[in-house]
Amino acid sequence: MAKNGLLIDYQFCTGCRTCEVACKKEHEYEVGQWGIKLAEFGPWKLPGDKWELDYIPFPTELCDLCGERVAKGKPPTCVKHCQAQVMKFGPIEELAQDLIEKPRQVLFAPK
Ligand code: SF4
Ligand code: SF4
Repeated sequence: MAKNGLLIDYQFCTGCRTCEVACKKEHEYEVGQWGIKLAEFGPWKLPGDKWELDYIPFPTELCDLCGERVAKGKPPTCVKHCQAQVMKFGPIEELAQDLIEKPRQVLFAPK
């Protein structure tokens, strides 16, 4: 059976943290536990007049790729609730192909 993962196209992440909340609610994680956490890089100055500021949602050890939801034919809740459509769920091989075609994404494969 194909192994699934998440492809994270963080270029469009607004840092809204909806994925964090949706994941936490779905799994009823306790205070301080997260299935996905937002990392913030920057802002810092680049050569020339450019600046860099990136938000990157990062699945944690607790991410189970929403196994229960997926078994019922639903998408992972972070995928469903992200208005910017940052996360894509599917077989690793297919996601890797998307990654080759558009760099500066992150491919998450759970254990
Ligand atoms: S991945 Fe989507 S839901 Fe999560 S912080 Fe970024 S824009 Fe918001
Ligand atoms: S796939 Fe499910 S468990 Fe993993 S980060 Fe997204 S919402 Fe959380």
